[in-house]
Amino acid sequence: MRTLLKDISFLMTGDAVQTELQNAYVLVDDNIIAAVGTGVPNLDAPADRTISGNRKLMMPGFVNTHHHLYQTLFRNVPQVEHAKLFDWLTFLYEHWKYIDEEAVYASAQVGISEMLKTGVTTTTDHLYLYPHGHNAIIDAEIRAARDIGVRFHPTRGSMSLSKKDGGLPPDSVVQTDDEILEESERVIHEYHDRGRYAMTRIALAPCSPFSVTTELMKQTAVLAEKEDVLIHTHLAETQDEEEFCLQTFGFRPVDYMEEVGWLTPRSWFAHLVWASDADIRKLSEHECGMAHCPASNMRLGSGIAPVTIMNKTGMRIGVGVDGSASNDTGSFIGELRLATLLQRVKYGADALTSRQALAMGSMGGARVLHMDADIGSIEVGKAADIIMWDLDTLEFAGGLHDPLTAPIMCDAKQVSFNMVNGKVLIENGDFTTIDIQTLVDKQNTIAARLMAR
Ligand SMILES: [Zn+2]
Repeated sequence: MRTLLKDISFLMTGDAVQTELQNAYVLVDDNIIAAVGTGVPNLDAPADRTISGNRKLMMPGFVNTHHHLYQTLFRNVPQVEHAKLFDWLTFLYEHWKYIDEEAVYASAQVGISEMLKTGVTTTTDHLYLYPHGHNAIIDAEIRAARDIGVRFHPTRGSMSLSKKDGGLPPDSVVQTDDEILEESERVIHEYHDRGRYAMTRIALAPCSPFSVTTELMKQTAVLAEKEDVLIHTHLAETQDEEEFCLQTFGFRPVDYMEEVGWLTPRSWFAHLVWASDADIRKLSEHECGMAHCPASNMRLGSGIAPVTIMNKTGMRIGVGVDGSASNDTGSFIGELRLATLLQRVKYGADALTSRQALAMGSMGGARVLHMDADIGSIEVGKAADIIMWDLDTLEFAGGLHDPLTAPIMCDAKQVSFNMVNGKVLIENGDFTTIDIQTLVDKQNTIAARLMAR
């Protein structure tokens, strides 16, 4: 099937030289971009389907590099509205321990729908909690992603260090190292697609230095090497974590990662708020990736990540909305706007431009997930992961002096069009594969039940 997207008023391709076109067209052959140009395309045969991009801004779909989809069930919980990370976790673990397959399926669909609506075409997820041996909850979230049609790169997360062993989480949400490694292999073998344009890939993701054993950290890196998959964890998020690492392991967080074999191009770390200049040099030398999560860092009062300094080293940096329990929303375009604004608080008005933030959201994320050969820009041969913004909306009115940066500067709320792998998932602002109202009702019922326990 050939789809012609034509009369596109503005097109940001996101390619290496940041090409920007007007009155453009994009031809999609099944799931692959077959042609990009301006004016009227010279086709040998008519397309099967034509979509207008008139009065629209098109750009590559975004790649969300950090999320905990199940947490959409636990947004805006009043008891932890003012809590910092460790207190927030300690309270929420007691409710998180009741999640099951039904809860994970519904909450993943809610989180993914928010992602699509705000421009994401590929998302990761960090699911690190398998209460009472519910190993199949990761299968449930993969099912949820496939049923909607998003490109999905979830991680088989883990926690193995409970309170009784000096960690933070309660016994009910941790597993043994052996069970975690065995399950990690199962999930990789069952779902990890090594082919081009893969719709499902798996990474391994111990939750954080304070919730898994040193041995699990090491063994996870070894298994990832053997299976040729990526690894991910939270790192250097707060000063509490730094103190914990120094006291427990005798290392600061980034040095601890070096100690356990995690400073490799396979790894990407969420947060890195408290990375020193020496840490940044080390992360950059080892080609580690980074998921910047400004809303969560602000919400929990964790601090401002040194993205402006990292950028100068050429580090691979993507953006992540983080779990909804520490963001309370899941707006990816909103997250890019916050990234831009927050860097300016610390480093001045020219720290991060809107165009840099948009590139970080698409190609930056694709590089973090090692998928930049297939996604992250609108170029011939890449997967058709494409979004469009309707420029005739209230928030953009009077703001079209530079239409390409309007979604960030004018605080865009939602895309009007979202295509993943050649399939249209949002058209004229409406979801095509999911009934949102039914989903919302179900999610609210489950959320109330979990918080009542
Ligand atoms: Zn997180």
